[in-house]
Amino acid sequence: MKILIFFAMQEESKKTVEHFDFKKVTPTNSPLPYELFEQKIHGNEVFLCNAGIDSRFNVNAVGTVPAALTVYELATKLNVDIVINPGTAGGFKSRGGNIGDIYLASKVLFHHREIPMGPYEPYGIGTFDAYDFGQLDQSLHFKTGVFSSSDSLTCREHEIEFFNQHQVIVKEMEAGAIAYVCEQLKIPYLGVKSITDIVDGGRVTAEEFLENLETASKNLQQFLTALLESLKVL
Ligand code: SAH
Repeated sequence: MKILIFFAMQEESKKTVEHFDFKKVTPTNSPLPYELFEQKIHGNEVFLCNAGIDSRFNVNAVGTVPAALTVYELATKLNVDIVINPGTAGGFKSRGGNIGDIYLASKVLFHHREIPMGPYEPYGIGTFDAYDFGQLDQSLHFKTGVFSSSDSLTCREHEIEFFNQHQVIVKEMEAGAIAYVCEQLKIPYLGVKSITDIVDGGRVTAEEFLENLETASKNLQQFLTALLESLKVL
């Protein structure tokens, strides 16, 4: 099986790259800034990428647009069978979320695409399917639930209503875009998010995020190690 692993940020991907001794693929011959690596793991051909550094702003190219472009380009070029999207996210203490938790997506929504015009309303929200985690090894430790994406790290008052109504447990900035690309390409989207900050917790998100980024990246590496073991070719 060919697997594409997409991280938004270099910092999130570093521990996983090192753990599996992924080899950098250069040059990728693309106008996009992503970094691409490859490695054979348990009989699978695994490609790992991060969105890369935006050349104008010199920060990680986070958010939906670079995520969609990168995953579309690599998934089609490399003809992958599944996209795994590990990353960091905001969790909700009102729904049992804690810093460091690992969540797998059951569905993926967009919370910033408000188009109250008949059938455009559900189109905006998206409600994309995700990989059926019932197929995974029972010994893997994870929680599950609804992910929701927008292009903002911050949370607006009325978005809390949306999160409660849709029982959102993970708020982040790429999943919806990648799940959309996967739906078009008819390949499964497997979202894996580690909680770095609590949306309904009262702390400043950017501060809490930076404090917990390293631990979350380590948790992702450990979970991915177990996940790739469970996806091994027998
Ligand atoms: N402040 C950070 C930038 C992080 S952007 C820095 O200085 O480096 C946020 C990234 O983390 C995105 O890729 C997003 O998917 C994820 N993320 C983590 N917590 C989030 C939250 N509460 N809301 C939205 N995205 C979040």
